[in-house]
Amino acid sequence: MRTVTLPQGSHMPVFGLGTWRMGEHADHFDHEVELIRAAMDMGITLLDTAEMYGEGGAEEVIGAAIDGRRDGLFLVSKFFPHNASRHGVVEACEHSLRRMNCDYIDLYMLHWPGSVPLEQTFEGLQALRDGGKIRDYGVSNFNLTDLEKVPAEHQAQLGCNQVFYNLAHREVEWEVSDWCRQRGVPVMAYSPLDQASKLLHDPVLGEIAERHGVTAAQVALAWLLQRPDTVVIPKTTQQHRLRENLAALEVALDGDDLARLDGAFPPPSAPTRLGMR
Ligand code: NAP
Repeated sequence: MRTVTLPQGSHMPVFGLGTWRMGEHADHFDHEVELIRAAMDMGITLLDTAEMYGEGGAEEVIGAAIDGRRDGLFLVSKFFPHNASRHGVVEACEHSLRRMNCDYIDLYMLHWPGSVPLEQTFEGLQALRDGGKIRDYGVSNFNLTDLEKVPAEHQAQLGCNQVFYNLAHREVEWEVSDWCRQRGVPVMAYSPLDQASKLLHDPVLGEIAERHGVTAAQVALAWLLQRPDTVVIPKTTQQHRLRENLAALEVALDGDDLARLDGAFPPPSAPTRLGMR
């Protein structure tokens, strides 16, 4: 699996599995565990979750799925803004580690900007890293103003900015992705399929998919995967879609495809607010 290099030197796979909406129903638990195990069997090592998902339920599903298989995984989790104080972040991390039944998180991030001064949050994150509880830290849903508020000494240390990004929502390309690229901070694209909205029925996407003999979802993912330092984390609860989505890594869009996609889904040409789901 292709990887991007984080500022601390770790390697993060460019493709992972999202887990939003998992861990919400006890009767789906076994199916979700099986799904994550199937993902690992296919070579998907990045698992994205958050203390918010299923109020800890998604982390518990991951904990059950990775039991005995922690090595080689790249676990990503996020904490609530109301847990972003110096001590709050440490406590939240300990709870996440307990739920996932593991010793460390590879990349731990603030889920969205809140009101706790970021100096405090990053003090907590630094303590977690020094104590070996996390390998890297990052942010999510940060626009340019938010990124500029990250204490200077931590800006180029960010392991990622996880943002709403797909062909139909390119708002991040207005200044945010440039800021990240200039500092070597990877962009992790969430909702890369736009949550299976009308994007997947777009005629231009459909024509390009047909020409390559692939699906519209694969074109949407391949487009993101061809952008520099960009990671995708599509979520699915179906094994055949896991395989389909993973195979997007092998789709090579050419200059003509990219130009047609730019025409159908133009990048922002004026200041645009970063979207959020
Ligand atoms: P997404 O990955 O864009 O779309 C997920 C939806 O697409 C599901 O309904 C899934 O249905 C369907 N799907 C998956 N593969 C498909 C395919 N090949 N063809 C057709 N439909 C397909 O949306 P997301 O779950 O919002 O985003 C992905 C992950 O990003 C989340 O799970 C979460 O980990 C993360 N996230 C982070 C934030 C944040 O604030 N940081 C916000 C949102 C999401 P099935 O399950 O039925 O396949």
